[in-house]
Amino acid sequence: MNKIVALGAGHGLPDPGACGFVKEYEIVMQIVRKVQPVLERHHVIVVLTRTAATSLSNAKDLSQNKREDLENRVMKVNESGAEFMVEFHMNAGGGTLYPTTFR
Ligand SMILES: [Zn+2]
Repeated sequence: MNKIVALGAGHGLPDPGACGFVKEYEIVMQIVRKVQPVLERHHVIVVLTRTAATSLSNAKDLSQNKREDLENRVMKVNESGAEFMVEFHMNAGGGTLYPTTFR
């Protein structure tokens, strides 16, 4: 049976993540798009937590939007049967962990 792996682009608008000379959400989506076919060539079933550069929430309040986006991504991973998940970030500000849990 093929392994199922979830890949997460860490940010989606309206939360762009770190912004400098590049925007985090754009870079992590490009990384996900590069990793996906590599895994698929090894017969891994890839589940993407987001397929567009936007949040999985329609909430207008940014904090609520981020919370709902995270909850919806976690639900998507849990429902997919993924055995593990890789969440991509290109943080710029001293954080050491972005706590995402499932299962
Ligand atoms: Zn990030």
